[in-house]
Order: sequence, then structure tokens, then C-alpha cells
Amino acid sequence: MKILVVGANGQVGKHAVSMIQEKEGLEARAMIRKQEQASYFEDLGAETVLKDLEKDDIDAISEAAEGVDAVVFAAGSGPKTGPDKTMLIDLDGAVKTIEATKKAGVKRFVMISSFDTTREAIQSAPSSFAPYVAAKHYADGWLRDTDLDYTIVHPGALTNDPATGTVTAGETVERGEIPREDVASVIVSVLENDSTIGKEFQVVGGVKPVQEAVTSL
Ligand code: NAP
Repeated sequence: MKILVVGANGQVGKHAVSMIQEKEGLEARAMIRKQEQASYFEDLGAETVLKDLEKDDIDAISEAAEGVDAVVFAAGSGPKTGPDKTMLIDLDGAVKTIEATKKAGVKRFVMISSFDTTREAIQSAPSSFAPYVAAKHYADGWLRDTDLDYTIVHPGALTNDPATGTVTAGETVERGEIPREDVASVIVSVLENDSTIGKEFQVVGGVKPVQEAVTSL
């Protein structure tokens, strides 16, 4: 199974590519936006493709998805940029990736969303965070309205703590933190479990082994 990881050079993205490469039967194609980022992925034996979610259109992004079996959206504008980039990456970049996936004839799509992307969460978010929650809300909604085999992962606050291999996952769980490396394990487990198709779930640090938590959703 070949997986296009969009936002591969990100912190979750790098863990995800490296875990995919380690798994028998899985291989990654890393979508990055700078040539100098490629060697990290080539050293892992992963393919790379250069695309920019802001500058490239749906046709160009769909070329990156040609021939893969699944697309993982792990990109994000990050906390250092303003609402303009939130709109262009977290919303429009996600929607362009969804449309590009359809155009490439790929069915499986795994979205890394935010913990709570409900309408209520937009309303109650601090004004600096609300545009991000709104972007994620509409990107998730766009995906739900497709006929893609999607899974939407809603992780809690991401940390760079070492992986624990254990999580709490469910339709709604108590807000908490989760190491980025554990989010990457969750993504790999989701890709390996078609029972997650059409589902979405919140995930934070916990005590259940990732595989068990994902298969019992
Ligand atoms: P990250 O380290 O900031 O990585 C984001 C990636 O997106 C980077 O590789 C970046 O590329 C890429 N990107 C940005 N603009 C792009 C563009 N125009 N074209 C192509 N790629 C672009 O993010 P993370 O910490 O791994 O988080 C992963 C996901 O989790 C994000 O979607 C985030 O919104 C979501 N999330 C975060 C939290 C949290 O607590 N922070 C909680 C829940 C969910 P470069 O490497 O080239 O800059």
C-alpha cells in the first residue's frame, strides 16, 4: 500500500513517513515543498514529490497522488502565521488535497484534524484560535460530503514527548495531550484498519495500546 503524506516534512509527518517505511507492505511518498527537504526521506527509502498547497492547483496536487492507495493530510500553517495562511493551508490546502485525491482516483483519505472542530468550538474559541478551528471545521465538513473512504483523526494538544504506544480514543474523550509520535502510530493503525473508514474520533494520551484502541472504535 502506497501512501501520499501531505505535510511530510512536519513533525507528525516525519514520524508518519518513518513508521510507514518500517511497516511491511506499506510505503510512503512524501509531499514536501522544498528540494532541500528531500534527503531526509530518501534516506528512509521513501519517494518524494515537490508540491506547494498554496501555489499549486488541484491538477498539480493530483499528480502527486497518482498511483497511491491512500492520502494522509498532515499539513498545517502552524501557530506562527496569521489567519491568511490558516485560510490558505488549513482550509483551502485541505480542500484542494481532497479534490486532488478524487481527481487522482484515490479512495482512502486520512485527515489530521483538530481536537474539537464543532460549530460550538468555533464560537467558544479565543479570537486568535477561532480562524484555525473554523478552517478545520469546514475542511472536515468538505471531506464528510465526499464519497471518499475517509477517517478523521481529532488529536488533543500535540507534544514532542517520546511515544508511549498507548492512547485513549473515542467519539468524544476528555481533552488532553498526546505525543506527535503516538499520533503517527494512530495514523498507521488507521491505514491498516479498514474498520475506521467513515469514522472520526478524538485521541489523547491513555493506557490502551494504539492498535487495540483503533480497532475497538
Ligand atoms: P507542523 O510541524 O507545523 O507541520 C506542518 C507541515 O505542513 C510542515 O511540513 C509544512 O511544510 C507543511 N506546510 C505548510 N504550508 C504548506 C504549503 N503551502 N504546502 C505544503 N506543505 C505545507 O505540524 P504538526 O505539529 O506536525 O501538526 C500536524 C497537524 O496536526 C496539523 O494539521 C495541525 O493543524 C494538527 N494539530 C495540531 C495540534 C497542536 O496541538 N499543535 C493539535 C491537533 C491537531 P514545511 O516543513 O516546508 O514548513
